[in-house]
Amino acid sequence: MGRRGAERGQPDVSGLAEGLLRRGLAAGATDLHFEPTDTGLLVRVRVDGQLLDFETVPAELAPNLVARLKVLGALLTYRMDIPQEGSVRFAAGPGAEAVDLRIAAFPTIRGERVVVRVFGREQDLKGLEALGLTAAQVRMLRQAVAQPAGLIVVTGPAGAGKTTTLYALIRELRDHHPGRCVITLEDPVEQRLDGVTQIQVNPYGELSYGRCLRSLLRQDPQVLLLGEVRDGETAALAVEAALTGHLILTTLHSGGPAETIVRWLEMGVAPYQLVSTLTLVCAQRLVRRLCSECRGRKQSSCGRCLGTGYHGRVAVAQVVRLDESVREEVLRRAPAARLREVLKVQGPGLAQQGARLVSEGVTDAPEVARVLGTEPAIESTG
Ligand SMILES: [Zn+2]
Repeated sequence: MGRRGAERGQPDVSGLAEGLLRRGLAAGATDLHFEPTDTGLLVRVRVDGQLLDFETVPAELAPNLVARLKVLGALLTYRMDIPQEGSVRFAAGPGAEAVDLRIAAFPTIRGERVVVRVFGREQDLKGLEALGLTAAQVRMLRQAVAQPAGLIVVTGPAGAGKTTTLYALIRELRDHHPGRCVITLEDPVEQRLDGVTQIQVNPYGELSYGRCLRSLLRQDPQVLLLGEVRDGETAALAVEAALTGHLILTTLHSGGPAETIVRWLEMGVAPYQLVSTLTLVCAQRLVRRLCSECRGRKQSSCGRCLGTGYHGRVAVAQVVRLDESVREEVLRRAPAARLREVLKVQGPGLAQQGARLVSEGVTDAPEVARVLGTEPAIESTG
C-alpha cells in the first residue's frame, strides 16, 4: 500500500503512522499525543509519566496521518466533528508482542487531536521484587495475599503505579497460590493476564462496579480485584465481601495510609467492619530512575533516555498493617494526624524511602522533590 502511494509521488502516510507508533513503543511510551498546531502536527510521547516532544509532522501531511490513525482505530474517517474512541491490537513488527492501543480523536479549532494510549505489555509487568519496595515491604505484601480473606488497599494519586502493584500481587497469587479463583473488575482492563478472569466495568452504565460485584459474589470467587473504590456503595460491598471470606484487592486515591483509613470511614464503613477486614495499606509514588547510559547527565544524544537523564521508574512506598494499636485508634475514630503517629512505628515513610533511593544512587534529589514535594500539603489535610 505504501509503495502505491510512493509511485504516485505521495508520501507514505500509513508507513509514517506505523513508524511513529513503532518508535513510540520502542521509547517506552504509554501515550502518544498528536496535537494540531499552526505549523504542523506536534507528536509528543509520555515516557515514565513525563510528556516529551518527539517530532513535528508537516502540516500538509497532518490530515492524512490523522485519517490513517483513525482507520487503525476503526473510527469514522468522514466524521471530524465529534469525539471518537476505538481500539486496535497492534504489533510493532513481525515477531513483536502485540499491544492493545486505544485511539481517541477529538475535534479542536486547528483540526483533530488524536491520543493513542498504550495498554500494558506482558514484558512491562513486574514481579513484586522488581517494584522497588524493600525486602520487608515485599514480605508484608506476600503475607497479606497469603491470607484467605481480607482487604488490601494500594493508595496514592493518579500515575503512582497503583495498578502495577495490584497486578504484581495478582500474579503472585496466580503463580504461588494456585487453586484460588481470581476475578478482576477493572475500568479499563489495562493488562491481559493469563489464567485470570478479567472483566471490564463501565462505572456509568449497566456494568457498574456495584452491580458487577453483587453478581460476581455468586460466581464463587476467592480473590477479587476491584480497580478502584470511589463511592460508599462499592466500599460497603467490598467490606461485606471481605467479611464473608473473600480476599479483596483494590486502590483508592489518597495521600497516605492514615488518609486511606479516614476515607473508608467517611464512605460509611463502620469502624468495627474496617478493623475486621482491612489487613494492609500500601501508599506509593513513582520516581524516575537515573538513566543507566548517561547516569543522569541529560545528554540530548542519549538514545536510552531521550536526553531526560532518567529511564524507568521505581516505587517509593509506605506499607502498613492494621495491628492492635492501629485498630484501637480506628475504633475510636481517631483523626488522620493521630493515625499517622501510630503508623509511624511500623516503618519508614515516603520521605525516608525517597532519601534512601537518592543515597543508593537509584534516583536524584530533584526527582524525589518533584514527586514528594507536595507531601506536606497532602498530609496536612484530614
Ligand atoms: Zn541517558
